[in-house]
Amino acid sequence: MVYTDGCPVLNDIEWRDNCQFPVIRKGETPSDWMKRIWDQLMNYRKNNCLFVSHKRYMVARKILYLWEGDLGSAFEVNIAICYSCDQLVYSNIGCKYGICHFMDKHWSTNCTGNAYCDISFRDYIEFKNKLKSGLTNSFDEKQAIRRYELWMQNAIRRVKRAREIDRKIRAVKVIQEKWLEYFYRPDGLCASELALHYQLLWTVREEMRQINNV
Ligand SMILES: [Zn+2]
Ligand SMILES: [Zn+2]
Repeated sequence: MVYTDGCPVLNDIEWRDNCQFPVIRKGETPSDWMKRIWDQLMNYRKNNCLFVSHKRYMVARKILYLWEGDLGSAFEVNIAICYSCDQLVYSNIGCKYGICHFMDKHWSTNCTGNAYCDISFRDYIEFKNKLKSGLTNSFDEKQAIRRYELWMQNAIRRVKRAREIDRKIRAVKVIQEKWLEYFYRPDGLCASELALHYQLLWTVREEMRQINNV
């Protein structure tokens, strides 16, 4: 499988909208902002008309005027809309070098969706192996691996928490233990174990879905 984020070809209006989506207007709260752009944003998302940087979340920007008569520049603030859980994410850590660490943190801890993880376990193993053997150096694949791992962290936390708050999930403990065991040494897996691992991941995913629907 070749994995790429692609680069949509945008017309002038789409380009302009992509630049304007992130901007929180004067007097607007982040929720106002989200409400205002939501329908159009989802439309653009569906039609693959978003900048790659806006593909999985939208980091808000605020216009700052640095001097009198300044036309204003839009600076990123630590607020984003996550398209996996459709929630506003607030943070006190920021973005550096084009990577939004606060979205990483959100995805690995409290995102209740899983759309950000868009490769299967099979792909994950495949990409890992390709990277290890030097067959690829794809940035997109590396990012996909990273998001898969964030999702796994989140899933483990969720299973743990579900157990803590005593939700009635069958065999959660067994799954969790086995899963952790496999997670930390996926290299030594034989075919039947891989199949089991794969199954466990889906079980956990299914459980997450159920927990989220409670
Ligand atoms: Zn950023
Ligand atoms: Zn989220």
